[in-house]
Amino acid sequence: MKAILVRQCGGPEQLIVEDVPVSKPGPGQVLIRNASSGVNFIDIYFRTGLYKADPPFTPGMEAAGTVEAVGPQVSDFAPGDRVAYAMTRGSYAEYSIVPAATTVKVPDGVDLAAAAAAMLQGMTAHYLSHSTFPLQKGHTALIHAAAGGTGALLVQMAKMLGARVIGAAGNRQKADRARAVGADEVIIYTEQDLETEARRLTAATGVDVVYDSVGAATFEKSLGCLRPRGMMVTFGNASGAVPPILPLILSTRGSLFLTRPTLANYTSTREELLWRAGDVFRWVSSGALKLHIHKTYSLEEAPQAHRDLEGRATTGKLLIGL
Ligand code: NDP
Repeated sequence: MKAILVRQCGGPEQLIVEDVPVSKPGPGQVLIRNASSGVNFIDIYFRTGLYKADPPFTPGMEAAGTVEAVGPQVSDFAPGDRVAYAMTRGSYAEYSIVPAATTVKVPDGVDLAAAAAAMLQGMTAHYLSHSTFPLQKGHTALIHAAAGGTGALLVQMAKMLGARVIGAAGNRQKADRARAVGADEVIIYTEQDLETEARRLTAATGVDVVYDSVGAATFEKSLGCLRPRGMMVTFGNASGAVPPILPLILSTRGSLFLTRPTLANYTSTREELLWRAGDVFRWVSSGALKLHIHKTYSLEEAPQAHRDLEGRATTGKLLIGL
């Protein structure tokens, strides 16, 4: 089969298509023929070495496809089932071996490209809005990269829960897209001061929660947007990892809460995984959650997909068609 192998961490040119053998599923595993693989920022962290993986490895943390074979002790899946998965590495490939425990069935009303587009970023938006800081009517949330893959889904879920959403975006076109998916206000933080605008839009009170996926470049400013006892959810490093901070800063900024969550810890039981994936697929199927596919790339075009994503040139989801 064709698969991308990273033999050395580095730039996008390290994503090289090779011919590799298809493995047999072991106990508790399924072999999936991937139809569509999602491109996520986490793939860039593994490629550059910010997140550790031993080369050679196949990147990609999500895909949808059909079950080709099941290993011993797998009773929930059979060949031909339409399935999706997230947070198992190796999806930039025609076939993947995935634990049955982290695989979910894709309902009939959702096509496989949509399933691959919704799985990782959709479940992320779900846990951030429903569990990390459970939003409700009366809350104001500041959401960074609001036109991005994860951001646009988070904006939509925050609106479903009745919150007021202030989006942050890097340019005018992205601001328009953030508004189109439901943001009540958008700060173009490359032109406007994030903190000043967030204070102005909340009558100087500050927001209840900041969902910050940009990381190093915005962390400080994001803290300044919060109301006393608000929650800073730093969940990504698109501009680089946030440097160490003194806990005392949380006190001087108003007894703030700080968390650095990751999807794996919010889908750690089968029940939780099925809850989040089930909600996401149901909303995609009903049209309550709108997906925007920026572009579908071939496996050979994976380096360009990474260049586009890390170059801030995209809105919505990037897919690799297999
Ligand atoms: P996006 O589609 O959101 O693309 C990244 C966006 O980040 C850009 O479009 C850009 O939007 C913004 N950005 C700001 N500064 C930079 C920079 N220096 N370089 C690149 N991008 C920058 O990507 P994803 O939806 O895949 O991921 C978004 C974030 O969410 C990532 O940080 C990722 O790690 C995180 N994430 C975390 C998860 C978790 O469980 N912790 C799970 C899933 C995603 P703009 O120009 O509008 O600022």
